[in-house]
Amino acid sequence: LVPRLRPFTSTIFAEMTALAQRTGAVNLGQGFPDTDGPVSMLETAKKSIDDGLNQYPPGPGTPALRQAVSDHRKRYGTTYDPDTEVLVTVGATEAIAATLLALVEPGDEVVLFEPYYDSYAASVAMAGATRRTVGLVEDPTTGRFGLDVDGLRAAIGPRTRAVLVNTPHNPTGTVFTRAELEAVAALCVEHDLLAITDEVYEHLVFDAHEHVPLATLPGMAERTVTISSAGKTFNCTGWKIGWLCSTPELVAAVKAAKQFLTFVGGAPFQPAVAHALNHELAWVEALRTSLATKRSRLSEGLAEAGFAVRPSEGTYFITADVRPLGFTDGAELCRALPERIGVAGVPVQVFTDHPDQWKHLVRFAFCKKDEVLDEALRRLHKLT
Ligand code: PMP
Ligand code: GLN
Repeated sequence: LVPRLRPFTSTIFAEMTALAQRTGAVNLGQGFPDTDGPVSMLETAKKSIDDGLNQYPPGPGTPALRQAVSDHRKRYGTTYDPDTEVLVTVGATEAIAATLLALVEPGDEVVLFEPYYDSYAASVAMAGATRRTVGLVEDPTTGRFGLDVDGLRAAIGPRTRAVLVNTPHNPTGTVFTRAELEAVAALCVEHDLLAITDEVYEHLVFDAHEHVPLATLPGMAERTVTISSAGKTFNCTGWKIGWLCSTPELVAAVKAAKQFLTFVGGAPFQPAVAHALNHELAWVEALRTSLATKRSRLSEGLAEAGFAVRPSEGTYFITADVRPLGFTDGAELCRALPERIGVAGVPVQVFTDHPDQWKHLVRFAFCKKDEVLDEALRRLHKLT
């Protein structure tokens, strides 16, 4: 393996899921739902297979899905031409990788907010670029992880090419505020940076929080590649249908990289996701409400079990401080938990370049049936 990929030999999700399976643990590690998406979406996929949509779809994605993505982005007030400004990808993961491969040169720097979703660091490395991380900062009163604007300003230098922003944020569950994103936008404009956004949890936002796409802010549409996918919105993480929206020039550039990564993918799933985007947003709203309740159920349960729980404003995830339980290292705890009490979580430190600063936090997923969450909590109570 080439040296620049040696830090990325296995993912924490694969490791923890395998451990959970081996030990029969309740898996609150890897974030995937344990119920299916909207029935009409599943039926559309089945019908697509029966109708013979089993060969290569068009390179940029099936027209119906590109149109549906374009229509969906109108909810934020942005317009994208489905023919030139939308590209369908094999999940958000490919969209992120193709964007970096197409737009970032070896030696360029890409700013990531820490903790960061694991594929970002690997994709930056595959592009031959260097990551600069800016830690999110915990509010001492609320425990919310917010954006460090001064830290971002300090991380930007002459080699900085792009800033990658994930909101709603995995693993902290933070939904960045308009003010936070305005500060990012101002720095991107000032330093003429590309912005790449990962908005896969765009619909999974709780309470009064609002998802603000960075591309909607002044000066940003022309410099932002907006990425999302169907997996989290429609409970179909295994379908790997994602997309990106940007200017014709940036989309054409990313397409050049994408066509030699996978060319295309998911032919029968693309019409199904188009159908879901067009007709199943009420289903998504019910999902959002249900996840907000699950978030509270797991937060309260973790607090009762002795964790110091951080607020989760969106996503599938809660982070919890393990120190009140007498532990100091989340990675050690996560490797022991399945065997010891039968629960799997993910240590936050693996999403960072500064494990010492983050090692007291463990991430738990709440995108599970209530009885699964309750069983996990029953087991976690044994820690005290
Ligand atoms: N970004 C974030 C923040 C994620 O949590 C995930 C995991 N679903 C992805 C990207 C990958 O998305 P996809 O499965 O569509 O590739
Ligand atoms: N996005 C999911 C998570 O954060 C898992 C994705 C994966 O397994 N690569 O848990």
